[in-house]
Amino acid sequence: MAVFVLDKRGKPLMPCTEKRARLLLERGRARVHRVVPFVIRLVDRQADACSFQPLRVKLDPGSKVTGIALVREAEVTDVATVEIRGTTVVLNLFELVHRGRQISEALTARRAMRRRRRGANLRYRAPRFLNRCKPAGWLAPSLVHRVHTVKAWINRIRRWAPVTGLSSELVRFDMQALANPEISGVEYQQGPLAGYEVREYLLEKWGRACIYCDAEGVPLQIEHLTARARGGTNRIGNLGLACGCCNQKKGSLNVREFVKDPKRLARILATASRPLKDAAAVNATRWALANALRATGLPLELASGGRTKFNRATHGVPKTHALDAACVGKVETIDGWERPTLEIKATGRGSYQRTRLTGSGFPRGYLLRQKQVHGFQTGDRVRANVPSGKKAGTYAGRVAVRASGSFNIQTPNGVVQGIGHRHCTLVQRADGYGYHFRPKDSFVKGEAGDGRASHAALSIPGLKAA
Ligand SMILES: [Zn+2]
Repeated sequence: MAVFVLDKRGKPLMPCTEKRARLLLERGRARVHRVVPFVIRLVDRQADACSFQPLRVKLDPGSKVTGIALVREAEVTDVATVEIRGTTVVLNLFELVHRGRQISEALTARRAMRRRRRGANLRYRAPRFLNRCKPAGWLAPSLVHRVHTVKAWINRIRRWAPVTGLSSELVRFDMQALANPEISGVEYQQGPLAGYEVREYLLEKWGRACIYCDAEGVPLQIEHLTARARGGTNRIGNLGLACGCCNQKKGSLNVREFVKDPKRLARILATASRPLKDAAAVNATRWALANALRATGLPLELASGGRTKFNRATHGVPKTHALDAACVGKVETIDGWERPTLEIKATGRGSYQRTRLTGSGFPRGYLLRQKQVHGFQTGDRVRANVPSGKKAGTYAGRVAVRASGSFNIQTPNGVVQGIGHRHCTLVQRADGYGYHFRPKDSFVKGEAGDGRASHAALSIPGLKAA
């Protein structure tokens, strides 16, 4: 991964390689500013007179995971053709794991608790007047959290790197390109991109299943309701999806002749003639996120999922959330994507509730009143060096504290229980996220994995000084 670099005043400079960062630290020209993601601060340089190459943060917002990629936009001259091409150089890959589900479960639990209290203790109190309504643009807390965490991470990355632009996937497919083919560029009408937008649209419209036999999870082919041989057009209203079998069976028959079941026929014809609403293509959260991104003041590029898929397929990039993000928007060529991904898991900062309950609502146990135990708190990143005994060894990871001073440490290889606080050293304070490196060989098959590189940031000498 590229290492973020700050100048001596804390202003961001261009990110550097791991090797360069190691040299800077060894020669005393830099200090460790933050451990995960790794940020160093130069002691002898100021950013005032520097000019930077354009950096872009790209996003692929998802319901459970949002892919984030920091890329450098460069121009390279092709040696053979002396042609200047734009290229996207991937610097860092992140995957932000959201906790929408936990938030919604916590709110459900709270609601149940309050309900019980109202039934048991406040029976005769008159209900509050029903004067509460949701403001326009209201999103459920689990969804708002998605927008907020993505915004928070963009702000963080901007603190560590001179970002000059943002790209985000807004829609699954480009409605404009489908509806008015004549207004859009040549690549939609003749190029292969047209097929991608159309395919995504059809998948959404027909519910990702064969329209004749409802087969799901099989390769689906684009199918003409009125066959091409009978003068059927390529218009979106004449297209459906069919599995290989059904497509072959139907051949050049008309849909009215092929489908015997009148109910199914009526359903197919109704769906075919009804255009898919914009709302189905763009969900409210993505809009809210786009507005939040616009508020940063950086130039914002909004792209479609069809184009992401097209970029990924053209450049032979495997599918992960972070790499999807790197492929969002306009990408001519893409370099340096074979690198580890930092998985950032939103963990929250604990709960207000101090009583744990059984399923029936009876108290089961009580949590500590204070958050810290012997100077550590749950969520801190620690390194434990146990010299002897059953647990002898070195462990690094996220700590969960207990009042007894015997902690649990979540390491990449699982939870290690019962590590004494005396053996722990603080690496980084809890910030509401858990971090985990996924080496690049988890998606690049046949290439020797270099897991060491991804953990290099954690083994740099002088770390304890930070
Ligand atoms: Zn079928």
